Amino acid sequence: MGRVEGKVALVTGAASGLGKADAERLVAEGARVVLSDLNTSAGEAVAKSLGDAAYFISHDVSDEDSWRNAISTAEDHFGPLDVLVNNAGILAMASVEDTSVEQWDRIMSVNAKGVFLGCKHGVAAMKERGGSIINLSSVAAMLGTPAFFAYSASKGAVRSLSKSVAIHCRIREYPIRCNSIHPGGMHTSMVMGLAGDPAAAANADLLSGMRPERNIGVPEDVANMVVYLASDESKRVSGAEFVIDDAFSVA
Ligand code: NAD
Repeated sequence: MGRVEGKVALVTGAASGLGKADAERLVAEGARVVLSDLNTSAGEAVAKSLGDAAYFISHDVSDEDSWRNAISTAEDHFGPLDVLVNNAGILAMASVEDTSVEQWDRIMSVNAKGVFLGCKHGVAAMKERGGSIINLSSVAAMLGTPAFFAYSASKGAVRSLSKSVAIHCRIREYPIRCNSIHPGGMHTSMVMGLAGDPAAAANADLLSGMRPERNIGVPEDVANMVVYLASDESKRVSGAEFVIDDAFSVA
């Protein structure tokens, strides 16, 4: 019997990186998983590789109608939702001096508004039967990260809104838990792509102020935490934050 046997999960941004690993681990532990992403071809390929326990839907997390469609399609396909992983996110390297208003709005729209909309519609979908909402924040929510100015602000929003959702559900007696995960650097295209980014050279002084991470993690490090928070093993865990960074942020 898998650790999330019989549960239905929706994982956003599941076409690559951490979301893909989350979907793979949840299926391996017995869940049926709806993978959603803007990247339709990659998302469909991942879902196909996982067989009948996976289903892909095209989804823009920054759009409220797209959320309505994602949740209703997921429930039509696999039944009522038990787990929502708000994973989709974008990163841009730019300091407070260089961040344009358009760049700020785009990052906030995907990373902060996207998670807000997921929580809003996720709570509505799960408030009778209960469930687990898992939000991907970052260690950038805990640290000053001047080279990733807007990104870190957006992840701070995810950190605090997750606690508000958890307390809201407890007060309203909805059997929904909500927690945030805070990875350090993980081996995905989001992070590995920065090496060739011209903004990295322009912000070398701001990056050098960051303590070097001893080693970079792999997506499975986060997927293992997602399985725990999705499962009933964590039934008393809500409003908590889980840092996965090999002590980077506390060193
Ligand atoms: P990634 O770029 O590999 O994957 C992100 C996925 O989100 C992509 O498939 C992309 O198409 C999708 N996406 C982007 N905008 C979307 C939108 N509007 N609607 C739906 N899907 C959209 O990135 P990743 O490294 O796997 O990151 C996943 C999450 O983990 C992000 O929220 C990220 O901020 C967070 N995180 C990552 C790291 C890391 O080191 N990789 C560290 C801390 C936090």
